[in-house]
Amino acid sequence: MEIIVKDITAKLENLAPIEYAESYDNVGLIVGSLHQKVKNILITLDLTEDVFYESINKKCNLIISFHPIIFQSIKKITGKTFSERVIISALKHNVSIYIIHTNLDFIWDGGTSSVISKLLRIKRERVLIPKKGTIKKMITYVPISYADKVRNSLFDAGAGNISNYSHCSYNVDGFGSFMGNKGTKPFCGKKEVFHMEKETCISVLFPYDKLNIIKKALFENHPYEEVAYEIFNIENINPHLGIGFIGYIEEEMNEYDFLVFLKRKMNFPCIRYSPFTEKKIKKVAMITGSGRLGIEAAIREKVDVFISSDLKYHDFFKSEKKILIVDVGHYECEKYSKNLLKSFLEKDFPFIYIYESEIYTNPVKYFY
Ligand SMILES: [Zn+2]
Repeated sequence: MEIIVKDITAKLENLAPIEYAESYDNVGLIVGSLHQKVKNILITLDLTEDVFYESINKKCNLIISFHPIIFQSIKKITGKTFSERVIISALKHNVSIYIIHTNLDFIWDGGTSSVISKLLRIKRERVLIPKKGTIKKMITYVPISYADKVRNSLFDAGAGNISNYSHCSYNVDGFGSFMGNKGTKPFCGKKEVFHMEKETCISVLFPYDKLNIIKKALFENHPYEEVAYEIFNIENINPHLGIGFIGYIEEEMNEYDFLVFLKRKMNFPCIRYSPFTEKKIKKVAMITGSGRLGIEAAIREKVDVFISSDLKYHDFFKSEKKILIVDVGHYECEKYSKNLLKSFLEKDFPFIYIYESEIYTNPVKYFY
C-alpha cells in the first residue's frame, strides 16, 4: 500500500491540530511535498546535520522533528548555518521535513504532558495556562421536523462537548419568517410570498479547529436553500487545552524526597531548584520545554512545586518561598516526544519503518 506524506501529516494533525500551535511557532510541513511517497520515517527532537545524515543512512525520506528548524523567515540559503545546510541537503535528497511542536504541547490526551504525568504518576486536573479563543458558538434555526437530524450531525462533527459531557445544546422553539425572491426555491412556503415557519433555534459550542467540519455538517443536513446560522467567538476556556498542567502526586512528600523522586524517575542528570519552602509537596505544576512564563500562574494556583526548564537566575527569586521552582533541563523533559510520536504512528502505519533518532542532540553539557 502506498503511503504519502499527507497520510502521515493528516494523522498527526488529527492528534494535534496545527491551529493549536503558538503564533511564534512554525509547525507543519516545512520542506518537501505532501504527495511524496513515504519510505521510512525518522523522528527526532532536534534536526541537526547528524540527524539528517542518520535519516539518509536509515533510508528515511520523511523526518518528523519536534523543534522547528526554521523559526523566522529566511532571506538567504547559502549553507552558512546548520539549519540552512539541512534544508539544502533535504531538497537535494528529496527528504520532507515536518514539525509538530507547541501543538503537541497544547493537547491534553496523547501530548507531551500526558507522557510526563504518567511517568511521574501525577493525576492531572487541568492545564496551567489555558489557550484563549479556542471555543466558538453556533446558533442555527431549523424547521422543527429537521431539528434532530441537524443537531445530531453537529454532535457527530464534534460540537456539544463540555468537559466530561457530550451532546450539550440549548433548544428553543419559535417562528422564523422569510420571503424568497423569484429566483428562489424555498424548502417550505412559496417564493415571493411572506412565510412563517415553526423552527427550533439550536445553540452549540465547538472547538475552533472544527469550524469547517461543523459548517459542512450544517450545510449538508439543514434543508433550507439559504441556511440561517450565526457563529460567535466566546471567552470561555477549555480546561484541557493549553500550556502545562496542574495535578497531584500520589503521595505527599518533603521537598528533598521529591527531588530524589524526580531525578530517579526521569533520569535527570542535573536539577536546579530554588530554596526549600519547608512545605510538603502534593500539588504540582509543570511546563515541558521553556516554561519561565508559567511561574506566575503556578504561584497564583498555589501549587507546591513548579517544574520546567530554561529558567534564568532571576526566575528563581520569584519563588519567595511560596513554591519550590525546579529546572530539570529542556532536552531532558522533551526527549519523550520521540517515542510518543513513534508509538502513535506505528498503530496506523505498520508497513512503514518508523525510527527514533539515536543521536543525542542536547547542546547543553553538564560538567560534574
Ligand atoms: Zn523545546
